[in-house]
Amino acid sequence: MTDKTDTAPGAQQFIPPDADSLDALRAAAADCRGCELHGPASQTVFGRGDAHARLVFVGEQPGDMEDQKGLPFVGPAGRLLRKAVDDAGLDPAHIYLTNAVKHFRFELRGKRRIHQTPDRVHIVACRPWLVAEFAQLHPEIVVVLGATAAKALLGPTFRVTRSRGELMPWPASAQHPEDFTRVPVDADGKRAAAPPARLLATIHPSAVLRADDQDKAYEGLVADLTVVARALK
Ligand code: SF4
Repeated sequence: MTDKTDTAPGAQQFIPPDADSLDALRAAAADCRGCELHGPASQTVFGRGDAHARLVFVGEQPGDMEDQKGLPFVGPAGRLLRKAVDDAGLDPAHIYLTNAVKHFRFELRGKRRIHQTPDRVHIVACRPWLVAEFAQLHPEIVVVLGATAAKALLGPTFRVTRSRGELMPWPASAQHPEDFTRVPVDADGKRAAAPPARLLATIHPSAVLRADDQDKAYEGLVADLTVVARALK
């Protein structure tokens, strides 16, 4: 079980200043002690996928299966997301998947590990990893999956339910939007004449699995992702 704390040293000190690839960041993140969550969890679960992806998904945190395998989105919610990606007509080979918080937060009930939503302290502590990933990525669209990811990228006042399915520039409420809205660079490393990344917020696939009407919730997720697929054509 995790203790409740209000402060954490944060991940920044664990990020090598000279890290110039996602692989280098992934290796360094394995030793992160930026907050209490590294203690009970099995391992850091860093992002994975195409380093040149036009589309990046940001979820909440790894689940039980992700924690065991060390890979994001490999549990039931991840399987559902992959199906939704297919059904929306997106190319799964050209996406990057990551989470706002890189360790599994859970409560032990008997032998079962029950998911616990990360607190603000964990989101803030882990944010430097997300910023570092985005410094290596140059997506055109970022899909924010659920409230925790929205808080990490867009600030505490952003409401997914109010804005879901809408392709938009980064809102004024976002803290330091420049951390995430990088202008793409060309092959010479110069700024390309392309617009900065836009975002689309939608529900987390685990919310579909928890919904009373799963078919309807799934259709909503696919409809939101179809907006993204059209924009990337
Ligand atoms: S959750 Fe993030 S900040 Fe906390 S220990 Fe894990 S990687 Fe570090």
